[in-house]
Amino acid sequence: MLQSKLFSKTVREVPADESSVNAKLLLRAGFVDKLMAGVYSFLPLGLRVLKKIECVIREEMDRIGGQELLLPAMHPKENWEKTGRWKDPGREVMFQFAGRGDREYGLGWTHEEIITPLVKKFVHSYKDLPIALYQIQAKFRDEPRAKSGLLRGREFLMKDLYSFHLEESDLDEFYNTVSLAYRKIFERLGLKALVVEASGGTFSKYSHEFQVLTPAGEDIVMVCENNRDFVAINKESARKTSLKNLCDFAQNREITDLEAGGKCPKCGKPVHAERAIEVGNIFKLKTKYSQAFNLAVKDAGGKDRLALMGCYGIGLGRAMGSIVEVHHDERGIIWPETVAPFGVHLVALQEDIQVRNAAKKLYEALQKAGVEVLYDDCENISAGEKLNDADLIGIPARLIVSEKSIGADSAELKKRAENTPQILKLKDVVKALGGSMD
Ligand code: ATP
Ligand code: MG
Repeated sequence: MLQSKLFSKTVREVPADESSVNAKLLLRAGFVDKLMAGVYSFLPLGLRVLKKIECVIREEMDRIGGQELLLPAMHPKENWEKTGRWKDPGREVMFQFAGRGDREYGLGWTHEEIITPLVKKFVHSYKDLPIALYQIQAKFRDEPRAKSGLLRGREFLMKDLYSFHLEESDLDEFYNTVSLAYRKIFERLGLKALVVEASGGTFSKYSHEFQVLTPAGEDIVMVCENNRDFVAINKESARKTSLKNLCDFAQNREITDLEAGGKCPKCGKPVHAERAIEVGNIFKLKTKYSQAFNLAVKDAGGKDRLALMGCYGIGLGRAMGSIVEVHHDERGIIWPETVAPFGVHLVALQEDIQVRNAAKKLYEALQKAGVEVLYDDCENISAGEKLNDADLIGIPARLIVSEKSIGADSAELKKRAENTPQILKLKDVVKALGGSMD
């Protein structure tokens, strides 16, 4: 992609009411635009990141047997009345409105009320189970405080997966499978997530949240100093622990009386209070919704039994915002390679014809080799400004072509996350950047 043709430009000023790091950086670098509090447009750069996150999630959902579908965002009131969620607690977050003939509708903030009656149309026997269906779709929530950029939207993309089972053991097993898939997803997105027990709703003691530790988080997690994941994330804790008898205790503060410094109920080590962002949540719903919609299936003996359900969510925008919160420095974003909008930012530093020609040749060779390149071919912009913009945008590898480098038949490669540049001969550039030569 030629940067001179890129729709968005970096911007100096961000809206005064925007205080979160993720929103400031994403707005300044031209990844998103703010329409109103909690509602953002994804510009070409931002959409590339979002699509990569989507791809990772889709791959892992398909791998565990999930089937993708797409449900409507606009729902009839009647479905929500069946579960009692048209009024409290749905009313708190649900956008509700009237259409023609006084019909009432709501915008989906979750989809149990739609998926359960849908499944009832196709699933009648134990032979049709288990089944796991997911979608990646916009959710709408009238959040009271939408001040954290992409972390808390009023319109946001969610991947929501729903599973249906006959036996509880089967639900339990699939729940663990999803939990492992979630770990893999967050790892691939460059997010170190802690698995945390949280409130489970009516039918089970706990749900599990995937929490990314960062001061930008709105949640507080009480975590054992010896927690396996915490030790992997927190260097200080790793230094103190023997790495033996690792623990798995972590709970959302909402469900515990534990205080920081208190004893872990599992192993007695001190408990820490850490700020965190909930990027994913998995729930056993059991028969809560199958009962409301009478989703019953015939078991092997011909008897009707209510299907058991699980639901599993990940916020894509929130994941993107979290990545920025944990991967940035004072100069800008530092995208992990797996989700970066481009793999390489090629920058032609001067407008000298030889520099331009060499850069153009590299651009074409890299593209041909399948490397995703953003080529800063802009004119009348100072070298300093170009480098500042490249730091802000945060593409993992920057390739600089200048009069000096061309003189030495080379280009300078600098990783965004590192400080020392590397000099590459022009003929070695494509290979060094992982392009395939055939
Ligand atoms: P929170 O407690 O942060 O309001 P929640 O527990 O209500 O979130 P869930 O219903 O569990 O959220 O939604 C599943 C996932 O969707 C969350 O783990 C999060 O990643 C994402 N999500 C929820 N609300 C929002 C939002 N307002 N903006 C962006 N992502 C969200
Ligand atoms: Mg949640």
